Amino acid sequence: MGGRTDRVVDVVTGISDLRAFVLPMRQRFRGTTRRAGLLLRGAAGWGEFSPFPEYGPEYAARWLAAAREAALEPFPTAVRDRVPVNTTVPATDPATAHRLVVTSGCTTAKVKVAETGQDLADDVERVAAVRDALGPAGRIRVDANAAWDVETAVLAVARLDRAAGGLEYVEQPCPTLEELREVRGRVGVPLAADESVRTAEDPLRIADLDAADAIVVKVQPLGGVRRALEVVDAAGLPAVVSSAVESSVGLGAGLALAAALPDLPFACGLGTATLLAADVTAEPLLPHEGHLEVRRVTPDAALLDQCAPDPDVTAELLERASLAAAHLEGS
Ligand SMILES: [Mg+2]
Repeated sequence: MGGRTDRVVDVVTGISDLRAFVLPMRQRFRGTTRRAGLLLRGAAGWGEFSPFPEYGPEYAARWLAAAREAALEPFPTAVRDRVPVNTTVPATDPATAHRLVVTSGCTTAKVKVAETGQDLADDVERVAAVRDALGPAGRIRVDANAAWDVETAVLAVARLDRAAGGLEYVEQPCPTLEELREVRGRVGVPLAADESVRTAEDPLRIADLDAADAIVVKVQPLGGVRRALEVVDAAGLPAVVSSAVESSVGLGAGLALAAALPDLPFACGLGTATLLAADVTAEPLLPHEGHLEVRRVTPDAALLDQCAPDPDVTAELLERASLAAAHLEGS
């Protein structure tokens, strides 16, 4: 085990400490109730490497590049000291949706729609309940997670837009960029691409195809805060910064991106520390009145001890980091 750790510390030059963590989640996310990863410490602070379990080394290398950047380099200059965040409403019944929005303190809600086993009437009722909770000034976006085909999307977007009294945007109504482009030409509601943004090249393709009005960007999949800033700039589209449901250390990198973007027209999906039942810091990045204060996050030693995974989980994370490191350029 010690040897493996040394190997990673060796490969990612400049890392002085490396800790594994596993955090329980309040609700199921991507088929699991736990979020695991590594925290890397360098001259600038701590970075997080927490690729989802199904990701191979080549893709995970981007996530490691993000962790390395956060550990070794100061975050780019912030142009704002607080970042608005949305609350996320899962595909629940209308009464629960109403309560979640009221208690969130947020003025923007992202409502999950197109859930398997539910129909459009369920989505319409949920969205109407969210509008009631937010009042007329609140913003509502819906996220279909690529579940619709073009015809279903065109119909659903029109009905949900009516139920919402105006939608801010619809996130990833269909799987492909070609479908997004077609839907975009047939509805009067802006579209945001999320699942379609997984590599640094994707936003450029989205812009070329005129497939969306905004892009959802996440620091780890794009390979770091600086790379994400370049990607947003090159795409020339408004960006919504979202998390990969990281610990507060990883969320801190997303917050640094949102703080550094020249324009931030939308509330960000960075309020996800509320989904975790534990964190690596006693001062997690939890929203207050719909905002996160921009700051750097340092884990607490005692909490790192508490959330240390079983040795086999740690060994697997270290192995994944080693394999990812082999793909990192310039290391
Ligand atoms: Mg989404």
